[in-house]
Amino acid sequence: MSTEDVRVRYAPSPTGYPHIGNIRTALFNWLFARHTGGKFIVRIEDTDQSRKVEGAVEQILESLRWLGLDWDEGPEVGGPFGPYFQSERLELYRRYAHELVEAGHAYRCYCSPERLARMHTEMVGRKESVRTYDRHCRELSADEQAKAEAGGVVPVIRFKVPLAGQTTFHDLIRGDITFSNAELDDLVLLKSDGYPTYHLANVVDDHSMQVSHVMRADEWLSSTPRHVLLYKAFGWTPPLYAHLPMILGPDKSKLSKRHGATALLEYRDEGYLPEAIFNFLALLGWSLDDKTDVISREDLVRHFSLDRISRTAAVFDIKKLQWLNGFYIRKLSPSELAERALPFYERQLPQEVERPLDLRYVGQVVTLQRERVKTLAELPENAAFFFVEDLDYPAELLLKGGMSREQARELLTAAAAVLGSVVTFDAAGLEAPLRALAERTSVRTGDLFGLLRVAVTGRTAAPPLFDTMAVVGKERCLKRVRAAVRKLSDTPAA
Ligand code: GLU
Repeated sequence: MSTEDVRVRYAPSPTGYPHIGNIRTALFNWLFARHTGGKFIVRIEDTDQSRKVEGAVEQILESLRWLGLDWDEGPEVGGPFGPYFQSERLELYRRYAHELVEAGHAYRCYCSPERLARMHTEMVGRKESVRTYDRHCRELSADEQAKAEAGGVVPVIRFKVPLAGQTTFHDLIRGDITFSNAELDDLVLLKSDGYPTYHLANVVDDHSMQVSHVMRADEWLSSTPRHVLLYKAFGWTPPLYAHLPMILGPDKSKLSKRHGATALLEYRDEGYLPEAIFNFLALLGWSLDDKTDVISREDLVRHFSLDRISRTAAVFDIKKLQWLNGFYIRKLSPSELAERALPFYERQLPQEVERPLDLRYVGQVVTLQRERVKTLAELPENAAFFFVEDLDYPAELLLKGGMSREQARELLTAAAAVLGSVVTFDAAGLEAPLRALAERTSVRTGDLFGLLRVAVTGRTAAPPLFDTMAVVGKERCLKRVRAAVRKLSDTPAA
């Protein structure tokens, strides 16, 4: 097979919102397709009507779009092997299921749910290894069949799994894997409502969509021998298989909600950048070498290979994701960062701040704030003072440095005079005259700057003072320093 013949697919079931693990599968398939110049297909496996979740398809596609995982064939874009929703391909599955019956590889089963439940209880009672079906209908005579049909029972179609022997397949990551056929039940292919099961639809579609490699989570590993037997029954060549390593939480148990494995788009809403998630997911089970943590999308496409997918489980480390996210936040240009952060400021700043916000101003603010943050959502957290007109804080905060009320008031009055005379109101223009003021009044610079910080920001911790003052602007700084003086006068001394 030449590499351009690579055709891989992401085949989600819309039974919930996609999470980190689901999208890691999509990403690996996408990377492999882009690396080889092959095709990336999205196929929606929506044949389980009872487990369908409203809005899940949209979430799946939106997650892919958000990460920039574009698909060559699938929903919205179509393609030569469509439709790409299994619910629109029912005829095909029915035809193939009946074909297997004709060929003697499958049979109609008329067992009622009650009989199956009874069978199950009895097996448990006899301490037999419990199977889902005892093959009761496998060898029904024509008479018995006709009787069941006449009774109006709509049968399911079951696969005739060989009773003995073994099924071996090669997994590109794990090597040869062998299952004994006796362990495999006569699985249902077509349900009585005419819908196929996952196994039938999956195999029929991978074949008819000419999928070359099936790369999926290793929870599907036990389905693969069944699929391989189905390919054989149809007389088709199976695709190549690669089962991706499991993702574990930091406590080494299977990744779950408890570990923060929420829907992927929640990470977006919490202020993670797609670049960071992309980089992070790529390293959940794949590595370039033993040390590279930061790797760009382009480099991943260039270097991605199946032989560097690990056999052992990957560990989801939220600290690493946060670190990477901070890294990518600081890598953005101020204007790009402002654009991405704008919705977070719009959403999180207090009501009183007038919207829409000025993007250029947000750009100045983010430049001061981005040093320490891990997510975009953290940016507006302590930033209200940049945006509101008047500050609300207790007068006592101004006296935190240990100054007397009188001293603080005098100092702030003098500072107001200095600020009023500063011509170039930027960090460099502010520093010299304020240091001179400290010297003139014999106050420690730290005390003066601490006092000014509270007056200008209403907080004791904020980004570098002079830069902050420059962004807040001369007029507002003056107003705030004067307001602080009033605050100290108004409040009676304790
Ligand atoms: N529909 C299955 C899922 O939701 C697809 C498994 C496979 O890739 O074969 O994961």
